Amino acid sequence: MLNSRPPHNGALAGLYIDGQWLSGGDSLRVINPATEEQLLDVAGGDAVAVEQAVRAASAAFPAWGLSSGGERGACLRRIAAGVAARRARLIQLQARNNGKPLAEAAIDVDDVIATFTYYAELAESLDVQQDIAVALPSAEFSARLRREPCGVVGLIVPWNFPMVTTAWKLAPALAAGCTVVLKPSEVTPLPELELADIIAESGLPAGVFNLVCGTGLAVGAPLAAHPGVAKLSFTGSNAVGVQVMQRAAETIKGVSLELGGKSSLLVFADADLDLSVELACGGGFFNAGQMCSATSRVLVAAELLEEFLARLQVRAEAIRVGDPLEPGVEMGALVNQAQYQRVCRHIADGLDAGARLLTGGERPAGLSRGYFLRPTVFTEVPLDSALWREEIFGPVLCVRSFVSEQEAIELANDSEFGLVASVVSGDASRAERVANALQAGLVWINAPQVIFPQTAWGGYKQSSIGRELGPWGLQAFQEIKHVIRAL
Ligand code: NAD
Repeated sequence: MLNSRPPHNGALAGLYIDGQWLSGGDSLRVINPATEEQLLDVAGGDAVAVEQAVRAASAAFPAWGLSSGGERGACLRRIAAGVAARRARLIQLQARNNGKPLAEAAIDVDDVIATFTYYAELAESLDVQQDIAVALPSAEFSARLRREPCGVVGLIVPWNFPMVTTAWKLAPALAAGCTVVLKPSEVTPLPELELADIIAESGLPAGVFNLVCGTGLAVGAPLAAHPGVAKLSFTGSNAVGVQVMQRAAETIKGVSLELGGKSSLLVFADADLDLSVELACGGGFFNAGQMCSATSRVLVAAELLEEFLARLQVRAEAIRVGDPLEPGVEMGALVNQAQYQRVCRHIADGLDAGARLLTGGERPAGLSRGYFLRPTVFTEVPLDSALWREEIFGPVLCVRSFVSEQEAIELANDSEFGLVASVVSGDASRAERVANALQAGLVWINAPQVIFPQTAWGGYKQSSIGRELGPWGLQAFQEIKHVIRAL
């Protein structure tokens, strides 16, 4: 059994509302993508469960919203400690439900611990900042500034980093004093169910955190439309982001959106080639490429192209793809059949469009079941092809050459997205100059995709509205109030 709670009628309870575990209606079939076998069923919810959850969150809000930052910080620390105590189990759940290798699942769980700890610190710092005086150009008035929680918030998350995307929303929402209704992905509910179990044990007051598992239409849509929800924070695809925004518009809800990406890794002529190849593989094949931050466009200085491609091919073909639970496996399975088929379609369309397949593009030999794909590299990808322009969300890199710094920047910025970018160069001033010119919310220089809770997550253009992490992640769940008094 993966979760500590007993199943109800053969399905795991998928609703945690007002401090109680409840069984919903429709069963969600949860699979292990590495074996295609069913792990278990989760009894998901619907609009009625959303109504119940919003009601519970609304009832809990007045007391939680008025609690001190210190009290909320202490709760967040208990959640971080609970996650740390179940670290090994959560790593297994991430690997089994999502298909990612154990080492990557461990990074996810540690990120969750770091995020709750960071927002515990921010929550604790709020009390001394509350009601600070505002300097005014008049002796006749005084003013003070308050930061207040915005109310009941709806959090909707995808399947690629279950628990991590949740922590990036949930920790700052609780720190701010909001009460929460969380909808995890129907594809990967198990890590969030375990997290809910940890929260249930943490002593958080009933109704502050509510979880409703279910599909996008049964649960996500009514949550996005609910008039009792003050703010929505959504991570997922652009297509669903548009729908969430449209529903939120009906009651003028605030929205934070973390959506897709089509990011670039830029390799300049003075770059360390081995480092460049490692970073290209990390940016393209980590999490089997199912990352909004995948640097799936690799731009290489023309004079390096031949040698770079030769080394990239060798490295990509050496990546050990297989059972995520086997130590030493570097790339696991894609999350489900739909995603596998979607990526295969993109590969076929790329070939039709005239791109040259350097390596990969097929199931690895010896893996007859599970949603596995070989690390795939294309070159000579037409600039107007879907492979170059659209988010693939699979282990597929597209390599092109450039002749000047300006051309590299223009190629990278020529996208409707602007989430992240990576620059590899031995010339520090060039790397900094290029980083400044790239339209992206986060740029790494000669570095893997390290993420700290202190630095913001989010991007330009159609990648995001708002920023997560850092103080910006907290501010997303706060209202600003000024009180001005005549003296
Ligand atoms: P998705 O948009 O299909 O689903 C995301 C969530 O929205 C799920 O919980 C889903 O059930 C729910 N949903 C679906 N339809 C809905 C509706 N009509 N109303 C409300 N909710 C609905 O995305 P996915 O396939 O789960 O995840 C992959 C996508 O997520 C990719 O496009 C990726 O780029 C994006 N993503 C972005 C970031 C980021 O930080 N920018 C991070 C991770 C994933």
